[in-house]
Amino acid sequence: MIDIHSHILPGVDDGAKTEADSLAMAKAAVEQGIDTIIATPHHRNGQFENDHQMIVTNVSILNDLLVDEDIPLTVLPGQEVRINGDMVEDIHNGELLTLNNTKYLFVEFPSDHVPRYAKQMLFDIQVAGYTPIIVHPERNRELLEHPSRLYEFVRKGALTQVTAGSVVGKFGKTIQKFSNQLIEANLTHFIASDAHNTTTRGFVMDEAFQNVKKTHGADYFYMFYENSQLLVGNMNVNRIEPEMIKKKKFLGLF
Ligand code: FE
Repeated sequence: MIDIHSHILPGVDDGAKTEADSLAMAKAAVEQGIDTIIATPHHRNGQFENDHQMIVTNVSILNDLLVDEDIPLTVLPGQEVRINGDMVEDIHNGELLTLNNTKYLFVEFPSDHVPRYAKQMLFDIQVAGYTPIIVHPERNRELLEHPSRLYEFVRKGALTQVTAGSVVGKFGKTIQKFSNQLIEANLTHFIASDAHNTTTRGFVMDEAFQNVKKTHGADYFYMFYENSQLLVGNMNVNRIEPEMIKKKKFLGLF
């Protein structure tokens, strides 16, 4: 299994602090059936500054360490980019790193809202030849309250990634329910761990995929499984026509 979102690189953000932490995370990933993982450190958020070249170098060091330690996990380079006005410029000047050097780029919104310029920026990224993937939309307050905004982004070509922990209820019942609604309405295309450590923010990928199979059926299970493989290979991923989430249903009033 491929995990496209993780904070496994040591000492670069709020994920693994040391090489020992990274190795512990790598072992936990392997136990979950993960053989390939994309390291997606936060690009920039006040405390951290992780540019393209630094990430590539650190991924290579971690891969050497995994070989030395006989841990059967391959780490690929990536980045989690907080939405900002310079994104297209930063793609062109080599500051940003797409997922495994493909056309797919992670875009993170602030947790409490969606910036006004998001629609235009998601469009501009696509005009530049890249496909934006909105990370964990289920954890964004504005999208939770107005899921039709996410519907518009997806209809206009953006993809989304739901976090495994959300699917299994680690972020509470509301977010779990919203995650299931996103899956049901074809508003998400990937499930990934966004693992930061082995305790409070672990992998739970196996559990999440089993939940998806049980709740949504084998077709969704395989679609998510396959989409991560297609992404790493820079191929087009499976998309099913998205539907609107009905507010009534969202509130559980029907
Ligand atoms: Fe993340």
